[in-house]
Amino acid sequence: MKQSLLIVEDDEPTRAFLADNLSADGFKVACAGGVGEGLRAIEVRHPSLVLLDLGLEDSHGLDLLDRVRSADGIASRLDPDLPVIVITGRAAEADRVRGFARGADDYLVKPFHYGELLGRVRAVLRRSGGRPRRGVLRVGELTLDPLTRAVRVGGLPVHLSAKEFSLLQALAEDPTRVRSKNELLRDVWGYLSIGQTRTVDAHACRLRRKLGSSGRGWVVNVRGVGYKLTDAA
Ligand code: CA
Repeated sequence: MKQSLLIVEDDEPTRAFLADNLSADGFKVACAGGVGEGLRAIEVRHPSLVLLDLGLEDSHGLDLLDRVRSADGIASRLDPDLPVIVITGRAAEADRVRGFARGADDYLVKPFHYGELLGRVRAVLRRSGGRPRRGVLRVGELTLDPLTRAVRVGGLPVHLSAKEFSLLQALAEDPTRVRSKNELLRDVWGYLSIGQTRTVDAHACRLRRKLGSSGRGWVVNVRGVGYKLTDAA
């Protein structure tokens, strides 16, 4: 399986350069231009490693690092141990120290040689390989492990199809929010497709049946908007 990287960088040419080269070197690459977009991409894509620029369009890159490192690995969609390599144009020692103090796994100063970056990415991924897996999503009695794809309700396993699992994961990643059907189509089925919302309804219906024999739903239809996950207990 390809390891996935997230590049958080507001400079388009740098982002494209990194994405092209890292893809060519066998990584699955996603990009974000700011902290907000980056956090969302981490929640949805669960990258193996983040390349983080510090001067971003909406905020400072270390804000993203703080959010990740302070996350509760059980209740949150963010894995606090997510490997992060900081990339920045600021060579000052103070920044370097600050980057590590806040939990960066490594640090590169622009301009850097691509070969050096690749070496560091591989080294950090190797080091992080033995870490205990976190990132199990939990909503009340329901747990979902994105890595093993195991779903349990009250400790009992629930067997889901691939799409049912992805739909549940999309809802569990942000259980406080109602997800629109088009949003779910995009995230789960991977295409922008207005008007195919029956697909979402059909899967949500099956998912609801499989999760709750008691008739009390985990997957709640919010009329005219979409779906959300609520603690059925
Ligand atoms: Ca920048």
